[in-house]
Parts: sequence; C-alpha cells; structure tokens
Amino acid sequence: MSEADFFHEGDLVAVLTTQPLDRTLDYRAPAGGCFPGAYVEVPLGPRKVLGVVWGPGQGDFDRSRIRSVIRVLDVAPMRVEMQEFLTRAAAYTLTPLPAMLRLATRAPGLSDPPSMRKILRRGDAEPDRMTDARRRVIEVLQEYGGLAFTPRELADMAGVSGSVVKGLVKQGAVREEDSPRDLPFPALDAGRAGKALTEDQAAAAEALRAALRSGDYGTTLLKGVTGSGKTEVYLEAVAECLAMGRQALVLLPEIALTAEFLTRVEARFGARPAEWHSGATMTERRRIWRMVGQGGAQLVVGARSALFLPFQNLGLIIVDEEHDTSYKQEDGVLYSARDMAVLRASICGAQVVLASATPSLESWTNAEAGKYRRLDLPNRFGAAVLPEMRAIDMRAEKLQPGTWISPTLRSAVRDRMEKGEQALLFINRRGYAPVTLCRACGQQIGCDHCDARMVEHRFLKRLMCHQCGETKPMPEACPSCGVEGKLAPVGPGIERLAEEAAAAFPEARIAALSSDLFGSARALKAKIEEIAAGAADIVIGTQLVAKGHNFPLLTLVGVIDADLGLQGSDLRAAERTFQLMRQVAGRAGRAERPGTALLQTFQPEHPVIRAILAGDEERFWRAEAAEREAAGVPPYGRMVGIVLSGPDVAAVFDLGNHLARNDGPLRRIGAQVFGPAPAPIARIRGRHRVRLLVKAAKGAPVQAAVAQWIAPLRLKGDLRLSVDIDPQSFY
Ligand code: ADP
Ligand code: ZN
Repeated sequence: MSEADFFHEGDLVAVLTTQPLDRTLDYRAPAGGCFPGAYVEVPLGPRKVLGVVWGPGQGDFDRSRIRSVIRVLDVAPMRVEMQEFLTRAAAYTLTPLPAMLRLATRAPGLSDPPSMRKILRRGDAEPDRMTDARRRVIEVLQEYGGLAFTPRELADMAGVSGSVVKGLVKQGAVREEDSPRDLPFPALDAGRAGKALTEDQAAAAEALRAALRSGDYGTTLLKGVTGSGKTEVYLEAVAECLAMGRQALVLLPEIALTAEFLTRVEARFGARPAEWHSGATMTERRRIWRMVGQGGAQLVVGARSALFLPFQNLGLIIVDEEHDTSYKQEDGVLYSARDMAVLRASICGAQVVLASATPSLESWTNAEAGKYRRLDLPNRFGAAVLPEMRAIDMRAEKLQPGTWISPTLRSAVRDRMEKGEQALLFINRRGYAPVTLCRACGQQIGCDHCDARMVEHRFLKRLMCHQCGETKPMPEACPSCGVEGKLAPVGPGIERLAEEAAAAFPEARIAALSSDLFGSARALKAKIEEIAAGAADIVIGTQLVAKGHNFPLLTLVGVIDADLGLQGSDLRAAERTFQLMRQVAGRAGRAERPGTALLQTFQPEHPVIRAILAGDEERFWRAEAAEREAAGVPPYGRMVGIVLSGPDVAAVFDLGNHLARNDGPLRRIGAQVFGPAPAPIARIRGRHRVRLLVKAAKGAPVQAAVAQWIAPLRLKGDLRLSVDIDPQSFY
C-alpha cells in the first residue's frame, strides 16, 4: 500500500476512482502536494470524478500526457487500514475495487467545501418593546444557551412566526452567526453508571471489557435468549470502548428497531449517537461521514452500510441479531455485513460482538472451533421466563375452509383477552393471499415479467409481484379465460388473517404489522410504540415483529404456519425456521407475565419442529452441523453462486453451458460446478436467469479459481453475470 508519507507537487500518484475501470490511474500531485489516502477530484476525459490517492504512481503511462489532480477535498484522508479493508473485501467478494470505493463514499456533497449556515444566539441589545412572542424567543435562547438554532428552528421552538425572529435580529437582541453545517455530535458520557447487572451479565460484560483493553482484534459470540440483557451487556462494552477514546459501531438489522434502541443509548450515555440508515437525510449522511472521519462522532448506530464509514479509530463493532438475513446485501455488491465486520475489525485491531438468541450456524461453528470467544446469558432478566412452547396438531383441528386460526388457538387468544393481555398471531406472508386462482379455468394470475405469482394486496386494491414490484388493479375477469367473477384468493397473507381475526374476535382491537402497510418507517415505529403501550388486543405480524421489539403485555404467540419455512430446498431452511420460531416465541412473556407459544403444524414430529419445542438448542445445532458436514456444505464447505441473466433464454443457457464445460480452474482446486439450471425464480423483470453453483472444500482458494474461470468471458449485449460468494438465499 502507500509507501510514501507525502507526495509533493508534480509527484506521480496512483488514483483509484469510483469509475468502473479495472486499475488505478496516474496523475500528478497538485500544488501544495497531498497525503496518501487523500480524497481528490481528478479529470477523466471531459469529466471531473472523485477518487482516492491510492499510492505512488505506477509510471506505466506516457508521462507527457499525465494530468494533474484538480484539487484535494477538504475531508480527512482515507486511512491505510481502510484501503486495506476495501482491497481485501473486494478480493473476498470478487467485486471490482471501484465498486467498493463507491460503497465507502456514499455521502452526498463530499466534494463541496465545508458549507456554512446562519445560526442565532442571544445578542447584547434589548428589544425596543417586549411582546409575548418576543419574550418566548428570548426565553428559548436563554434556556438552550448552548445550542445553536437556525432561524426556522428558533421560530418553531418559540412558537412564533419567522418575522418575529427577524425583527429581533434587526434590533440586535438576537445575533446571527455563521457556523459550519457539519457539527460534531454531542459527546457521549461513558462514565455514567449503567444498570446494576446480574452475576451472569456482569461476568459477560467484564469479559468484553477485558478483550477491549487488550487493544487486539477478537470476535465474541454473545448468545442469550431474548430479554436476557445482551443489549445491556454490550452497552457496557461500548462504554469501555468510548472511555478508551475509540469509536464504536452498533449494527442493527432493521430501521424499525432503532427508535427504542436510540432511547436506550441516550438514557445510558446522556446523548444520542449518530444514526446511519437509508432513511437519513442527505445532510445527516454528509455530516456523519465527515464527523466519523475526523473523530466528531463516537458512536454510530446503523444499518449494514455503516461498516464502510471512514472511522478514524474504530475499537468495537456490535452486530446485533447477527443471524439476521438482512445483513447480506443482495444486490449490487454482494457482501455479508457480519463477515465484513469481522474482516474490518481484524485489520484495525477492534473487537466484534455478535449478539443473538439464535446464532447462525456459521458463528456457532466458529465458536465451537475456538475461533470466536463465546459468552452465554442463559436466563431472562428478572422474573421473565421463556415461554412454554407447544404444537397444535393441525391434522386434528376442525377448520372452516378459508380460515386458518384453529379452535385451540382461538380459545387461547380469547383467554388472553379476558385477562387484559395481548396475543400475537404470526404469519410470514405479506398481502391478502399468495395466490389468486380462476375457478373457471384453474389458472393462477402471474406476473408478466417474472416467473412469480401476483400477490393480492386488498389494502391497496391491487395485485403485486413480490419479485419486481410490478402492480396492477385486481381484474374483474380472468386474464386467461375471460370469465368474470370467478377469481378467488387461495391461502392466507397477513391482511386475510387480520380479516379472519376481526370476524372471530369482533370486540378485539386488532393491529396488523407488515412493512408494506405503513407509509414510512416513522409511522411504523409510532404504531409499534402504541402497541407496546397496550393499544391493541391482537397483533398480527409478519417477520417484522420477530425482531427485538418489547411488548410487555404480550403473553401469547400463535404461529399460523410453522411449516412454511420448511418447504423448499434452501440449505438453510431448517436453520431459518428454527431461528424465526424461537425469535417469534421470544416475544411472549417479556415482563413479569409468563408467556406461551403455540405452533400450528401439520408435521409435529418433524425434527426441526421437535427441536424448537424441546428448546434444546445445542442439540439442534449439533444435528444441523453434522448434516452439513456430511454434505460438505457451508460452513463445512465453500459455495459460490453464479447467476447469469439476459432477455434471451437461449443465449443465457449457452453462456452457462460454456462456463460449465470450461471449468478447468475449478477442477484444479478440486471444486465442482453444478448447473446450469434455471434459477429458482427463472425470470425476473423480463430477464431469464440461470444459475451455476460451485462447491469447494473449506480451505480451497475458491475466489482465485472463480476469478480465473470467469476472466476470459466477454459478456455480449445484454447478458449479465453476478458472483455471490457464500450465497445466503437461493433464488
Ligand atoms: P436482550 O438484548 O438480550 O433481548 P435486553 O438487554 O434488551 O435483552 O434486556 C431485556 C429487558 O430487561 C430490557 O428492558 C432491559 O432494560 C432489562 N434489563 C436487562 N438487564 C437488566 C438489569 N441488569 N437491570 C435492569 N434491567 C435490565
Ligand atoms: Zn414481477
């Protein structure tokens, strides 16, 4: 990496740009010189593009034609360890380095100079005459003396019009100042005492603190049932990290989680951390990016892409709910944030904490093998105990056609309502019905662009494709046979279940929680808070509710279809079902009231269902691990998915066959290639999809072999190839 400490004007420097080129480009350092890692603007053809000074120039260009860096941006240079992280992440995921750099520069206005804005403070003069409105403005300024307000914010806080504020400025009672737009985040107080920990919690917290004090890299799997205090424990590690003067990052799987979480952080450290997620405004993103780089943000709470922020001194990464599938980015650069967190920490000497009630088999295995430290919190905090889990054998239940809540589950719900407690009915399917069938011709309504069925969303009065997002109005007549009035919904989604519950419990207050039923993340958060406060008797939810929310009054969980995840051929079907069922069941009985979880299943003797009911997690993992080991699949073997796509099905298959025949580089490392076969979803957005699956032994250099294998390909026309290292989903 960078050998020089500084490049003087005219020195040759290699610049990595965000443009899709397969190498760095040489430029001359600008007047004033630049440091390695400097963010720069460089000319590329007629354009100016963003880049980073990656090291000394390669010198293999015609020197007379080398142009100069236009200017060095006014942001902290990229650190060597970040260069190394991007380089290694690119090599691991077989992603071109410029695409990695794009991930690391996803903040708007990076090339703008630090901009200023007007802020207001109390001035020396007194207003000529005091009105109520003017008094309120001055009171706000006095009360929040330390804070800076924009004119708009001050007027809002005081509840006055903008002209009142303007009048006070004119008289000198309020003073205008220029202030940089990107201010440091308020300091967090790591010295404040946390909650008094239980013995188990205190031991776990101390182990994490000791690991941090070592200053070395290490990963800890923090396993504890929901409500056991994992968050309390890792906040202690955050406190230690901040006290050491290093930065901390908490990754969460879902933005809906952060409302409750941020309040907890604020209670613990006296101020709010920086929040990095897709809903953050441009101004916030820019501010966070800059402040993280110059030490003006101690703690970032964010979604997976926060991992690519330019931390100055990162000491700790928490990956909460580490098993969550949303940590795997499924489009663009395909990376697992959990694995990349471990990589980043290992480069910068940081600690990683993977927290989960139901760890991924990967992490469980790494802990078994001694690669990760493992800490367990076996008990729920306080009086809360794990819910009792039972199966409802659906073969023995009598249900009306078109209904899904069994008599046994109904009476359990009614029982909770009588006690003033809440029940959750869980179904992992959005929309009204997964299938719309014509009773005249037997055809199902499919998407015109994908090999997927259209899902009825009655709330929106439309059919929607969950693959491409295409929607169309619910037709009157069957699109295939033209007969009217014969279209019928088949199977339940959350909306249909809500309808059934409303009919079965007419007196109940019912709240349906599904990401698409709410206009915004904020509206959803508000709804979750209302429910937690008791605003519903029955909550009907999709996967969304399985994650981390606290519903203190909830004592019953009814899983409508526990068998759903067990269908299909996904390698992780058993693991996913196990995790999801445990997580959902963990919603019940968080406070002092014990909970019950009832699983509706047609196969109560299925080994996964039995393991869930028995609650013997280690046995489940051992059995699952043994099966995967015998099959040589992850985490005991390596897999790489290759998806080829294009508008012409024959061309896509030809390319797939060509790859399969020319598999020399794979055979040399003892890897096998399967396929080409139609991908499980064989058409998306009009593009045909074919997949190949590479299987290799655990230690095999699979990335290098795959890179060599696909390197000679010249993709013609509209053909696309994407490589998925360690694929998580198989679609
Ligand atoms: P987890 O992250 O394992 O689900 P939490 O840390 O969220 O568990 O703890 C569950 C609940 O119990 C939270 O409301 C938390 O504030 C409370 N809690 C956990 N440990 C303690 C403690 N030592 N003292 C007081 N409250 C605690
Ligand atoms: Zn579609």
